[in-house]
Amino acid sequence: MSTVHVANGDTVKQLNRSLILNEIRRNGPVPKIELAKKFDLTFTAVGNIITELSDMGFIKEAGYGESKGGRRPILYHMKWDSVYVIALVIGVNKISASLVNAKGGVSDDVTADEESIPLINKIYILIDRLLEETSVETDKISGIGVSAPGPIDPLDGKMLAPPNLDGVNNISMQHLLRERYNLPTVIEKDANAFALAEQWFGHVEANKSILYIFNDEGLGGGLIIHSRIHRGLGNGAGEIGHMAIDMDGPKCNCGNFGCLEALSSGIAIQRRVKEEIRRGFPSSLADDYLNDGKEFTIDMVVHHAKKGDALSQQVLNEAGRYLGLGIANAINLFTPDQIVFGGSVTRLYPEMIPVAEDVAKRRAFSPYARQITFSEAASNNQSDSIGAAAVMLQKLFDDSELLIV
Ligand SMILES: [Zn+2]
Repeated sequence: MSTVHVANGDTVKQLNRSLILNEIRRNGPVPKIELAKKFDLTFTAVGNIITELSDMGFIKEAGYGESKGGRRPILYHMKWDSVYVIALVIGVNKISASLVNAKGGVSDDVTADEESIPLINKIYILIDRLLEETSVETDKISGIGVSAPGPIDPLDGKMLAPPNLDGVNNISMQHLLRERYNLPTVIEKDANAFALAEQWFGHVEANKSILYIFNDEGLGGGLIIHSRIHRGLGNGAGEIGHMAIDMDGPKCNCGNFGCLEALSSGIAIQRRVKEEIRRGFPSSLADDYLNDGKEFTIDMVVHHAKKGDALSQQVLNEAGRYLGLGIANAINLFTPDQIVFGGSVTRLYPEMIPVAEDVAKRRAFSPYARQITFSEAASNNQSDSIGAAAVMLQKLFDDSELLIV
């Protein structure tokens, strides 16, 4: 038997307020008449909501629009500094917190010290410091958004046991932060949060679908379908890094063989270069590695590739082609409008994107795959903090009751 939800008057008002606030945020400045037409509301209903939102300080008048016969209509615009969220980024190597406004403007960024104390205590100290140091008024801070490495229990916002984060096991992060700071709190898997940042602050049009690929040390992914994160059962969707590409390929951190992460990620690229040097392939990195025993990073591989090292170029190119194969498979499954690349590998070596694009478009089944756009993430330098912020902002703007308390 299906359940029928009947919206009462308050719910309808709340929904309309959220629709109007989101429209002004996305497409403002806009006049009342346009809002009334777009959402099929009366001019009076829109007027009441506009008055309420102005009184609460979320929107303001922004001059006059074009006249369509009568008086020129007043335009309304978002007051970006009226809403701030605390963006907490839990990374493998770094934990940071900042305040981010509704436009993605980041202020007061603080990073946790390298102390060996439990993660949650480290986070309390960090957020307490942020709140102490900031000049943003406390009543403008409306929530806490957290991005963290998966797996995350989607029902109660628990961090389960991320493979690269020692000592974390079943921490009720969402609950603990909400109780301590008395603010609505949401936690999201990092790649999903970065993908949502593109939707909110990047160049992604509303209602488009994107595949976000986070190629860093590991390789993660996030799916946005019609402006929403697609989580799948148990938050398991988007794991393009563990798509099987080569049955007999190298072992992946997850225990399987030939995953995309084991062929295209930053760690995979470094490992491949080392293997070829040990086999005797000439490379300008060989002396550093073989004689001096130096470990090298993805930055060094890219640096040598740009200076003409054939091995570095070849390995990066191969990683790009494998990435293209993985993307072709993903296109065959859900044919997104855009493929967006974040993370340090494509930030350092954007040349990998056209390589992956060429393979993906040739291999994908649908002739429409040629229309898919491939680009680097607009926010690739600061996507961590604005990703965490976007997760909370989306919740606040969808449920404007949370903004009003
Ligand atoms: Zn894997």
